[in-house]
Amino acid sequence: PQLANQIAAGEVVERPASVVKELVENSLDAGATDIRIDIEKGGARRIRVRDNGCGIPKDELTLALSRHATSKIASLDDLEAILSLGFRGEALASISSVSRLRLTSRPQDNDEAWAAFCEGRDMAVALEPASHPVGSTVDVEDLFFNTPARRKFLRTEKTEFNHIDEVVRRIALARPDVTVVLSHNQQVLRQYHRMKDENHSGRLQQVAGRRFAEEAIYLDHHEEALSLRGWFSPPQACRHQNDIQYMYVNGRMMRDKLLNHAVRQAYGEALPDDRQPTFILYLNLPAHDVDVNVHPAKHEVRFHQARQVHDFVLGVLRNGIAQVLG
Ligand code: ADP
Ligand code: MG
Repeated sequence: PQLANQIAAGEVVERPASVVKELVENSLDAGATDIRIDIEKGGARRIRVRDNGCGIPKDELTLALSRHATSKIASLDDLEAILSLGFRGEALASISSVSRLRLTSRPQDNDEAWAAFCEGRDMAVALEPASHPVGSTVDVEDLFFNTPARRKFLRTEKTEFNHIDEVVRRIALARPDVTVVLSHNQQVLRQYHRMKDENHSGRLQQVAGRRFAEEAIYLDHHEEALSLRGWFSPPQACRHQNDIQYMYVNGRMMRDKLLNHAVRQAYGEALPDDRQPTFILYLNLPAHDVDVNVHPAKHEVRFHQARQVHDFVLGVLRNGIAQVLG
């Protein structure tokens, strides 16, 4: 199982930032409202994610570290309409096969916390009593210590941390209702506080900067089952450098060619040469109209009505742009 897990890890765990993404998504799936991320040495030394989510009962801890064990999907029907961020039951097993991972958890209505970790030649899961408030902590030390080839591919501490910072920024924009705090080498670097009034534009300003928040065009459009909300830069404000081109499909961050094409086409001639639009867009559609089970890292989607989705996004943006161009 160790080898199979390490092979799977090759697909899920590219670098420290992918570990952070998987762990934070688990925290969100667990209903956490407060997530603390502590990084040491760009994540190579330590990645620790603490949450106040629902926790895991002692008798499910072993399972949580096993491959293809997910508590989120019970049947094939569920797979057709995925609402949770995780569903493959592969992340924790994969990460623990290429690091020293410790999962500590205390479920709601329980005064006991337990820690689970793999040990020995066969990497059997061991349990021991621990102390922890309601919620979970996953502590990942020495990523890739046993896969030297992968460890060699890690970039500088700063570069790896920048990737983590980016992942956290994207998540912070997806979930303004959750507090996310990110530290590097014991120093708190980002504090995204939970917006009680769901003042999404407050978080926008915090993450994307005041300038973008001020100049961006806001849109919010529904058409039958499709809805598109978000911000994008007016053509004249597009810059040479684009750091923020974020797309969320049903709350999941995506890199999607179809959607990018639609955005590009909407700007069309209005986009000055070699300028890039900045955009943060949230597309929502019925879960059964989109297939997220395309790639293990889950950042690709397949739309059942691709043409319709493309034209919807294109139409809404084109309208918005036409309005600011007058
Ligand atoms: P998946 O998210 O695809 O189900 P993972 O390997 O990421 O698979 O996690 C395995 C299981 O461990 C989850 O289905 C969930 O039951 C449990 N789990 C993992 N992280 C947490 C967490 N932070 N809080 C509560 N449960 C968790
Ligand atoms: Mg998961």
